[in-house]
Amino acid sequence: MPLTDKFGRIHDNLRISVTDRCNIRCFYCMPEEGVQFTDRAEILSFEEIERFVRAAVPLGVTKLRLTGGEPLVRRDLPRLIERLVVIPGIRDIALTTNAVLLGKYASDLYSAGLRRLNIHLDTLDRARFLQITRRDDLPRVLAGIDEAVRVGFEKIKFNVVAVKGLIEPDIVPMARFCRERGFEPRYIEFMPLDSQALWGRKRVLTADEMIAMISEEIGPLEAVPDADPRAPATEYRYADGGGRVGFIASVSKPFCLNCNRIRLTSDGKLRYCLFAIDETDVKGLLRSNASDEEIAAVIRQNVAEKWLGHEINSVKFVPPPRPMYAIGG
Ligand code: SAM
Ligand code: SF4
Repeated sequence: MPLTDKFGRIHDNLRISVTDRCNIRCFYCMPEEGVQFTDRAEILSFEEIERFVRAAVPLGVTKLRLTGGEPLVRRDLPRLIERLVVIPGIRDIALTTNAVLLGKYASDLYSAGLRRLNIHLDTLDRARFLQITRRDDLPRVLAGIDEAVRVGFEKIKFNVVAVKGLIEPDIVPMARFCRERGFEPRYIEFMPLDSQALWGRKRVLTADEMIAMISEEIGPLEAVPDADPRAPATEYRYADGGGRVGFIASVSKPFCLNCNRIRLTSDGKLRYCLFAIDETDVKGLLRSNASDEEIAAVIRQNVAEKWLGHEINSVKFVPPPRPMYAIGG
């Protein structure tokens, strides 16, 4: 029986956060100072993550994404990838990274079997990168991208967080950069997941606004007709055939009805939604010799409790108790 919730949505996609730590401090995710990270003893080991994945595969999980915090600050991450790629039934593994450490690890990641990369980069301007991330690491990120291409990564996607009143000057340059290099940018509407309560509807640059900006400056965009309806990004392509652009319109056009994702936090909590208030502990099971069937039953129960969708656009909306870096984006 596939992992189906009470609204009939089938879940085959597991996002695994491997750490809540990060080497930069994007203002829409982390505070500048004083972040309380989880004790290392509370973080799932690679053995525990692998065990969880093996228990989830018989339920129909086929796709994994490793995220964080910054996954590349987790020591020996390629060793985890080696363990996961060989699990029968896993068809796809992706990594979301800020690319600061990609120059160092790209080759090992590729050798470990990773083929899909999402790189988070909002700007190509060094001063603006420093302003957004509070770290002067743009040169390392750009070198990391070059190294990833050199070692063989193809079709790299770029995450750009769209904060209104800030990011407008970067929308078109990021689109041009991706178009010229054969990458796909994905513009993500700013979501209420920051740790400092900076979010407000007026600070969301919407997908429609960005489509208009890119179409005017670079060329017309048209919706991709055969795009996967379960993917979070709405796919567009340049009418001249010059590549694709994705928009994750979580705020202006929520896509909850097509959600196929569950999440495992680095401290072993299962979440049926980025915005979930409740979560289910699985670390206790993993550390008490529970059987695969017991773990599977807890996964099924968590998915059975899944709500229809977040309520960002309603007065009822309650931000989740964890910020983005502690959930895993
Ligand atoms: N550190 C990695 C990175 O930055 O890609 C992985 C973890 S990060 C939490 C995952 C993604 O969340 C990022 O790529 C970024 O695009 C997105 N993100 C972070 N804070 C966000 C926010 N408040 N609203 C929308 N997207 C956000
Ligand atoms: Fe770190 Fe990613 Fe959060 Fe930026 S978005 S602070 S890179 S975890």
